[in-house]
Amino acid sequence: MDVVLMRIGDNLALKNPLIQEENSFCAYFLAKKHDLGREADQESRFTLRVPMTIEDLENTGKLEVLSGDLHQLCGYHQRVRECLAGEFITFMTFGAGARINFRCIKLNSSDVPIWLRDYVNSVAVNPALFNLSKFHLALTRHVVPSNSPSSRSCQSCASISFATIDTFWTALSGVIEPSIENVSFSAANVTVICLTIPLQAETNLRLESEMRSRQSRYNDPTADFSPPQCPAMQNADVILQSSDGVHFHVHKSILSMSSPFFHDMLSVPQPADSELVDGLLVVYLTEDAEVLHNLVTLLYPIPFVTPDDYDKALTLLSASHKYDMAAVQSSIRAKMKSKDLHPLTAAATFRAYCFASAKGLTQEMECVARLSLDFPMTFESIGDELAMFGGWALRDLARYRKRCRDSLVSCLESLLDLRLPPSDIWVGCQSTTSPTIAWWLQTLLTEHIRTLRGTFALSLLKPSSFRAEYLASLQSHVSQTDCTFCSKVHIMHGETFCVQAEKKLQNSLDRVSSS
Ligand SMILES: [Zn+2]
Ligand SMILES: [Zn+2]
Repeated sequence: MDVVLMRIGDNLALKNPLIQEENSFCAYFLAKKHDLGREADQESRFTLRVPMTIEDLENTGKLEVLSGDLHQLCGYHQRVRECLAGEFITFMTFGAGARINFRCIKLNSSDVPIWLRDYVNSVAVNPALFNLSKFHLALTRHVVPSNSPSSRSCQSCASISFATIDTFWTALSGVIEPSIENVSFSAANVTVICLTIPLQAETNLRLESEMRSRQSRYNDPTADFSPPQCPAMQNADVILQSSDGVHFHVHKSILSMSSPFFHDMLSVPQPADSELVDGLLVVYLTEDAEVLHNLVTLLYPIPFVTPDDYDKALTLLSASHKYDMAAVQSSIRAKMKSKDLHPLTAAATFRAYCFASAKGLTQEMECVARLSLDFPMTFESIGDELAMFGGWALRDLARYRKRCRDSLVSCLESLLDLRLPPSDIWVGCQSTTSPTIAWWLQTLLTEHIRTLRGTFALSLLKPSSFRAEYLASLQSHVSQTDCTFCSKVHIMHGETFCVQAEKKLQNSLDRVSSS
């Protein structure tokens, strides 16, 4: 059937212009799903014509179709961007871009108009901007002066001939097309974890090993994860073997009492050919010695040390969840709470979210989703952890973020309402003529609304940072205008206002659930 496949492939290649740019993601995904390497390669190039940010993909419904293959596609886009950035420097400094004589009022040190340099740089960041209409838009923005009094209209750029534009465009295409051709789609060392594989067990194993490989960076080589020793552990009647071959001697009764999973497993008669060590049954588990060590210490009256690393605590929690050990889970959660354990970086937070959502740790998923709002949600901030995102985890997190953003916006809008507390106290500022809340507060709130409406990819407004922003705005207002009204309101009611405003913002986020 290879010949038939080739013929279909060739026909498709001829018809490719018929595939709309917006559909290139679906076409790419289908090709990947059906293991059509050549077509996936071809379609991946078409995806370069469409903006590739998490926000763009979610807003256009593409996160719906992409799921597990994003990491590989993202890596490809990244390599193309790096290659273009390098080629463009040469092109604009020594190549054809520098030789075309533009007489602009704003030239850079290589005599290239600044607007043109900015346009070319923007193509390196987002290849979808390599488009004649976007080029003309950049030119028009430069030629037509803005409203600010200092800007002048550039007559020489306004009169650039079509022939010059054509020469430049042909030269630029001559750099971009071969650069893209040269970047291979299937780079080495790309691991793709796709949670949509039907074999959930296999997927879970891969996700666990991925989590372990990330933890090993923090592993302490001197740590001892050998089986714990204590009088209570004598006369054990079953052996748990970790994935790295360590034996833990435990009691069936203790296992059965703390875990319905082990209870069911140990209550069925063991097959005659079961492996025995020292006459004891061996149960093979997928957890490594470190996790089993922690799990076993939680079952016996011996001191238990919670991991200091959030990933490790989460792995332990997931093992106790898997074996249905409710009491053990509560102890781990209590310890995590008392240690105030949470992921510290953007990458760790996004990684914890995928792990918790794949393992059904709903509480942790909710908590980490909320923490992720403090970081930008971009492919750059997620980094290599994108390989762990599969299924609909990325789409779900993006949608949660959107809901949080909407909720924050409506909360900020309610704070602008001069008839309602807590903002009603701010009506009467000396520098505000119409009956409205003090303009400095209005500016602070509307700025946030504008930013949030513009994008959900940036870190969202943190309720706890509102007070500091309020104080800074008020200070600058009072120092500029000597406004006694605002000073007096602040002294009398400022504290209550901040507490109420922060509480409202906090509640607006609490109302949104990630599941
Ligand atoms: Zn100009
Ligand atoms: Zn005032």
